[in-house]
Amino acid sequence: MRKLLTTLFFLTIPLTQGFSDTTNTSPTIKVHQAILSDYKPQKVSEHTYVIHGPMRSDLKKTQGFVNNPAFIISDKSVIVIDPGSSVQIGRALLYHIKKITNNPITHVFNTHIHGDHWLGNHAFFENNPDVKIFAHPEMLKQAKDGIAQQWLDTFMSASGGAIKGTETVLPTITLTDQQIIKVDNISIKTHLADWAHTKTDVMLEVIEDKLLFTGDIVNNKRIVPFNDGSFKGSIDIISKAMKLDIKTVVPGHGAMASSELLTTYKTGLESIYETTRKLIDEGLEPYEMKSKVLASNTAFKNWMGFEDEVGRYLSLAVLEIEQEEF
Ligand SMILES: [Zn+2]
Repeated sequence: MRKLLTTLFFLTIPLTQGFSDTTNTSPTIKVHQAILSDYKPQKVSEHTYVIHGPMRSDLKKTQGFVNNPAFIISDKSVIVIDPGSSVQIGRALLYHIKKITNNPITHVFNTHIHGDHWLGNHAFFENNPDVKIFAHPEMLKQAKDGIAQQWLDTFMSASGGAIKGTETVLPTITLTDQQIIKVDNISIKTHLADWAHTKTDVMLEVIEDKLLFTGDIVNNKRIVPFNDGSFKGSIDIISKAMKLDIKTVVPGHGAMASSELLTTYKTGLESIYETTRKLIDEGLEPYEMKSKVLASNTAFKNWMGFEDEVGRYLSLAVLEIEQEEF
């Protein structure tokens, strides 16, 4: 068990540790201390490293940290995936990257609109104003329509103000489906969803590493809120991902895994959806379904958050089934 809760506070570190403060508003830089001291990058494939974030999402205790920031080191560059929910987390990620390589960080990818995955963009823009930040076109649209600010406000409040100083730095380049972005010797292939975990998701395949970043379309041993998602859309894109030539899956939350995780997650979603459909046919009301949906689901059994979230998953399934049959 990590000694997470006792060691979480901000550390002020000197500028000589490889950071540059382009804002010039403060003589020192604030960094998420727990990530520096307790969370180390784990090498998960030839070029790819992941910092596995905390499983529990008490954002006050983790100072907003909850996701799996990652990076890929190419011959001359570094590509960052989902730099976390604050400038402080992004800076800590940057610190870890700089301990491993001197290559500049030139590319950042955001898997979707939820703030825990992209608010850390700020740190990489601060480090390199020319950094290219990629995302689903719908993510950029929603972000510009006010959702970016909503996520900043949400994390500011949920973290008890720990992300103070973070600014919304939006993606600069929108992706298309099945696009390959070459960065030196690394090829990142995009798999865009129309509607899966959100309407803004992209899965990112690192072809040379046979590795797939799923964003929150897939998670591991943890059930995340699925308030604006689609069961059918999620099942659809996971089915497509299962046909890819990959060995390693890096989920949005939870530990990296083999490609078997895709099957497990798809089975779990299908179980909720199909059990709900069956119970509707039997004439049950949604409030009568919860225990049955829980009991029938072997894929998500004992997964963190399942009991808390299942009611909302069920309501979403009922809505989607009604719309499907309309
Ligand atoms: Zn999410």
